[in-house]
Amino acid sequence: MERQNAVVRQRIRVTGVVQGVGFRPTVYQLATGRNLNGFVGNDSAGVFIELEGAPAAIDDLVAILEAAPPPLAHIDAIQRTDLPVTGEPGFSIASSRQQVGATTFVSPDLAVCADCLRELQDPADRRYRYPFINCTNCGPRFTITMETPYDRPLTTMAPFVMCERCRAEYDDPTNRRFHAQPNACPECGPRIWLERDAKQLRVADAIAETRRLIAAGEIVAIKGIGGFHLACDARNSAAVALLRERKHRTAKPFAMMAADLTTAAASAQIGPAAAALLESPPRPIVLVDKDPESDLAAEIAPGNGQIGIMLPYAPLHHVLLESGDVWVMTSANHAAEPIVKDNEAARLVLAELADALLLHDRAIYVHCDDSVIRMTTEGELPVRRSRGYAPFPVRLPVAVPPMLAVGGELKATFCLADGKEAFMSQHIGDMENLETLDAFTAAVTHMEHLFRIQPELIVADLHPRYLSTRWAEDNFADRVVHVQHHHAHIASVMAENQYTSPVIGFSFDGTGYGTDGTIWGGEVLLGDLDGLARIGHLGAALLVGGDAAVRRPYRMALAHLYATGVGWDRRIPAVAHPTDEERRIVRHQLETGLNAIETTSMGRLFDAVASIAGVRHEISYEGQAAIELEALGTPEADGTYEFDLIEEDGQLVLDPGPVVAAVAGDVTTGTPVGAISARFHRAVASAIVTTAIMLGSRYDVHTAALSGGVFQNVTLLDAARRGLEENGFEVLVHRLVPPNDGGLALGQVALAGRR
Ligand SMILES: [Zn+2]
Ligand SMILES: [Zn+2]
Repeated sequence: MERQNAVVRQRIRVTGVVQGVGFRPTVYQLATGRNLNGFVGNDSAGVFIELEGAPAAIDDLVAILEAAPPPLAHIDAIQRTDLPVTGEPGFSIASSRQQVGATTFVSPDLAVCADCLRELQDPADRRYRYPFINCTNCGPRFTITMETPYDRPLTTMAPFVMCERCRAEYDDPTNRRFHAQPNACPECGPRIWLERDAKQLRVADAIAETRRLIAAGEIVAIKGIGGFHLACDARNSAAVALLRERKHRTAKPFAMMAADLTTAAASAQIGPAAAALLESPPRPIVLVDKDPESDLAAEIAPGNGQIGIMLPYAPLHHVLLESGDVWVMTSANHAAEPIVKDNEAARLVLAELADALLLHDRAIYVHCDDSVIRMTTEGELPVRRSRGYAPFPVRLPVAVPPMLAVGGELKATFCLADGKEAFMSQHIGDMENLETLDAFTAAVTHMEHLFRIQPELIVADLHPRYLSTRWAEDNFADRVVHVQHHHAHIASVMAENQYTSPVIGFSFDGTGYGTDGTIWGGEVLLGDLDGLARIGHLGAALLVGGDAAVRRPYRMALAHLYATGVGWDRRIPAVAHPTDEERRIVRHQLETGLNAIETTSMGRLFDAVASIAGVRHEISYEGQAAIELEALGTPEADGTYEFDLIEEDGQLVLDPGPVVAAVAGDVTTGTPVGAISARFHRAVASAIVTTAIMLGSRYDVHTAALSGGVFQNVTLLDAARRGLEENGFEVLVHRLVPPNDGGLALGQVALAGRR
């Protein structure tokens, strides 16, 4: 009987994403509701709790935390330790503490929640139409956090002094805004204004004027959560064309924001899975099929069957867009430079791009582009993992020492890892210029600081000319480990799937530096996280003139036709496209090998086929030819092509010769391009399946892993997965990080961590 009345004291340590997500108020309410004394607080390792009272009440509280944590929390672990009873009465929220040598998580930025949205739209609420409304369940996090623990003075909200009413909410453990660090109202919080020709318009006028300018076909730069967008009316062809002209962006698709799901569904085919994703707290851009009847400007995504659409996530967006509105919302930057995030930079850099600037005075500490996700038949396929997801960690299947992996070159991200947590950075951009390199350096420094990880090991790509590789070697010469590009892709998909047994990996992308100094990109690998080996590859062709061949797919087409022995018949569009002079030069280079390098790239084969079929001969953004070839495919068309599978020097070579010849034959006999596309996709999928069957039985491996930028192609991904599964393979595909180079750093960590 005495035991039941016993009082005990326990320390409870909770780690994971537990700060800035309403964890302390939840604990406060659970504790006071159970007559438990003690306190709860944040430190740099997570949340610490001390509870004193009946053991059953403590058990009950912990069980509820585990079973039903606050909606945005992700609990990693709960540790309990017994302490001596102190007899101190009451329960309180302790002030935040620093703790040395511990990793904490920082929540990603999250879309305005339903409760805040209701208040935002309620004329009687004191935050009616206030563009910075938030609570513990929603709002900016990663982009405003300068330091951990996550506390107002360590965020960019520090300069705003809460008014009495906001302070009362903040201090009230039963309030939804209890310790909501960005808590604010029109009286005390951040403000917006519109700048045009050095004139300023404030608050309500700024919103109305922004809407008027957009309706009139002008372009407005809008400061948001992770940076600026350039906005214009997505139904106004002239406005979208003007934006293309100013951004010097000829064809790469623009993302859009629709006011609500109904509005989005009027322009695109949005299934239930896509709808759920559009409305999820991270609010990514979702790539969906365009409705053929849509009245969106054709200039949004020329040659593309899909459009990228997102829903409002910042309260500012909800105030700006009215039902029926669809606006282009593209990252505001000059081509290839990082997204602009500061007012001063906006005035300098965006002046030529935008007719007006909609600014606010809450600083963005960390830039963070919108995330992009494509839907497959089986679920989500990340194309860019950034706002709303970063810096939430990816769990590694194996523990690694503290390390930094610097990724590749295009679509750069890096990864900081320690133990089993891999913190993938937000999207940084293409590492081709100093601005991006500076942004990269700043982001690395910030995240090392935030997560208190001091890397013992730096992992870089093998490519000697990647800026990221050079950055690693310049800064950490003696601690740099190199990982081959295509190995890293396969390790990336294995790591996110928590898979450590051997796989047959298909690592298909545009370009990566091979261990033999040639350009790889159609690689078949065997192994696990202890090491991968190349056991097969696409048959090589010559990349003529380096980058020129990448920008001009007809050069790759000429090279593949030449390698196959198909004559350069002028009825083949790729042959007819260049001038006689250029054709002569290319032939000379192919014959002599002058300024040409061998490549086994599958991405380049897609380019070649797109050009042979007359789809696209020159590109203005990465992957354009392949994207347009996929978009034109007509799945109902029958037939296929076939790769020759040849054993050569211990490697299985997927010879594309018969495929290239058949495409050339089809195009000269007038076969519709939709059928050529469908047959080509089938041929690649079928080559993957046949290769997996042959090599799988040889090495007794029955798991296939698909990674590399080529697998952003959902037609190919779905067909390959289906074929492999029908033949008894377990198939690893990406769901958390992109198959493109944006996911590379995760694989670098997984492989180097095991060495
Ligand atoms: Zn909220
Ligand atoms: Zn206030």
